[in-house]
Amino acid sequence: MSAEKALAERVILITGASRGIGRAVAIASAEAGATVVLLGREEATLGATYDAIVAAGGAMPAIVTLDLSVAHPELCQSVAEQIQATFGRLDGLVHNAADLGDITPMEMYDPDTFDRVMNINLRAPFVLTQALLPLLKASPDASVIMTGSSVGRKARAFWGAYALSKFGVEGLTQLFAEELKNTSNVRVNCVNPGATRTSMRASAYPGENPESVKTPESIAHHYVHLLSEAARGTTGQSIDLTAQS
Ligand code: NAP
Repeated sequence: MSAEKALAERVILITGASRGIGRAVAIASAEAGATVVLLGREEATLGATYDAIVAAGGAMPAIVTLDLSVAHPELCQSVAEQIQATFGRLDGLVHNAADLGDITPMEMYDPDTFDRVMNINLRAPFVLTQALLPLLKASPDASVIMTGSSVGRKARAFWGAYALSKFGVEGLTQLFAEELKNTSNVRVNCVNPGATRTSMRASAYPGENPESVKTPESIAHHYVHLLSEAARGTTGQSIDLTAQS
């Protein structure tokens, strides 16, 4: 008899599942037995991830379209209601979607861009976690993964709102983790994927040879591990995949 898959029976929501790291984590989670909820802006791009999962024999995913720059609590609440009605449970939440914003001095940073980046990268993980906590708390073993960045640990000139939002994400991780660790089965950790071959990386480093950085597929197993029973008890951690593959 084959061993049970690491994410068997689990329902896991991944934001920004249309491409890059989110797509790879969604596919790897489905391969590990999870039913995945693919959240993003456009049905068409999420549909490509959906098709890849179904073609590989994974459980039929769900698609939720939501623009995280305008993720009002009522919209997040309706995501929770959709998941409750469709699956009746949620065991994992991967806050992966992000906006790079502008690479420019703070002195010139456009305040509207600042607001959009903070909304997508920091406010959305906050309000979406709030709305989904009742479902997560009902799970016997729930895992929330936030996504950090090296520039959210040590500021790097010109990275602006993106860097600030990632500093905030580290704090948000610690707050939720501390508040939930003694009262629930919900663990909350922050993953810094490090340089990874995606369109965001290409925008930030246009002169870099993409072949010189690791692929999203090569790091997806770290996310699967954190989402699985094997990571029970790990919470409030800031996990760095900079040197990983
Ligand atoms: P990516 O390829 O640019 O993908 C970003 C994802 O976020 C896409 O699925 C995108 O959806 C989604 N997204 C952006 N704005 C959104 C919005 N308003 N509403 C909903 N979804 C939205 O980026 P990535 O490199 O995979 O990054 C994934 C995570 O890793 C991010 O949190 C990033 O900060 C972090 N990270 C990446 C690197 C790296 O080297 N790649 C390094 C450190 C940290 P659309 O397809 O609709 O645009």
